[in-house]
Amino acid sequence: MTTGGGESQPVLALNCGSSSVKFAVLNPETGQSRLVGLVERVGTPDASMTSSRSGKTRTETPADTSYPGVLRAILGHLTDLGDLSLLGVGHRVVHGGERFTESVVIDDEVLSAIRGTSHLAPLHNPANLEGIAAARAMLPDVAQVAVFDTAFHQSMPRHAYHYAVPRTWYIEHGVRRYGFQGTSHRYVAERAAELLGTPLEELRLVTAHLGNGCSAAAIRDGRSVDTSMGLTPLEGLVMGTRSGDLDPGILGYMAERLYTDVHALTETLNSESGLLGLSGLSNDMRTLTNLGQGNGERAETARFAVDVFCYRLAKYVAALVVPLGRLDALVFTGGIGEHSVSVRSSVLDHLGFLGLVEDREANAAHGRASAGRITRPGATQALVVPTNEELVIARDTACLVRAVSTGTSSKTSSRTAD
Ligand code: ADP
Repeated sequence: MTTGGGESQPVLALNCGSSSVKFAVLNPETGQSRLVGLVERVGTPDASMTSSRSGKTRTETPADTSYPGVLRAILGHLTDLGDLSLLGVGHRVVHGGERFTESVVIDDEVLSAIRGTSHLAPLHNPANLEGIAAARAMLPDVAQVAVFDTAFHQSMPRHAYHYAVPRTWYIEHGVRRYGFQGTSHRYVAERAAELLGTPLEELRLVTAHLGNGCSAAAIRDGRSVDTSMGLTPLEGLVMGTRSGDLDPGILGYMAERLYTDVHALTETLNSESGLLGLSGLSNDMRTLTNLGQGNGERAETARFAVDVFCYRLAKYVAALVVPLGRLDALVFTGGIGEHSVSVRSSVLDHLGFLGLVEDREANAAHGRASAGRITRPGATQALVVPTNEELVIARDTACLVRAVSTGTSSKTSSRTAD
């Protein structure tokens, strides 16, 4: 495997989670991927790796299921692609704290700064760091770039990111709202501007990324001015297994009732709440939607969980219009946002007072395969825009690697151009 600075060289985008690794080898200009894959249950004997190349999918068990072992297996697939010269490796990093406002080329100093923010994302940043260490060791001549989930939201004003808690919590412990999923919010905002035919700098948007994790963001003049997630990705919307907002007093109350501690309760709020907690049936929106079409108690419970999800989302969208002053468009993305016609319909129904009127045919017609408008023509629009975080990672990586090779900068954020 070689390295270089040519125009059509692919980028390896790596997303190392606490128990999974997503990877893609893609052209940063066209977004076309040569290889995509997922390794699940990393670090356990049940680890499995699924990869797709030229429409063919293959599943295997990596011989060594540690992060370096998994990375070695992924790089083995790259070798199978022939004489592949990588332009760079782009890593998703969950938390960049206040230091990282843009993507950055990774060097020892950047690594130690990422390590320094790990207390803010103890489940995520250590896994991201393991991926970076393994990739650097295996590809020492290939530039590595970090793309942060938090970076896009660093433009939030002070009044939006401060909690009303003692100031020392912020000064000494970094307690503030950071926001997450910024790569997706940034990408779909740029795509929405293209679809609307209006410069992003003139638009006021609310973007709703609805996957297993869910967040909404207010985007004014292309910058995030507020978002629903906070110090951690637990705040805000109802999610698959995460509670989103709740009265902080519940923690003390339930600790006493259950004779337990804050760690156990936080685990419950992260893993047993949200759609799963509400329904007792599933964390998966597709499953709940299907169940909800039936009759009986289970169907009613499934519908109830989805109702809470849609109501909370609509309430957040309306609140996020405050920093915007007006709403030009609401953008749906993520697995639920792209696929669930009924969730989009219900949210639009709640938000009629903002001038959003569903176009039923258009709503049924658009989704992951086709971005587009789902409201009747009017001052306020709603759009479905499929997200593509890997493409943002690849573009930022290509942009930075080229800037470094021409000596212009070591940190930047690329603009989408398709
Ligand atoms: P992740 O956040 O892990 O990337 P995704 O963005 O893929 O997850 O979103 C997963 C969610 O999308 C799940 O709740 C899943 O049920 C939901 N989803 C996928 N397809 C559909 C569908 N056809 N209808 C409703 N929900 C769907």
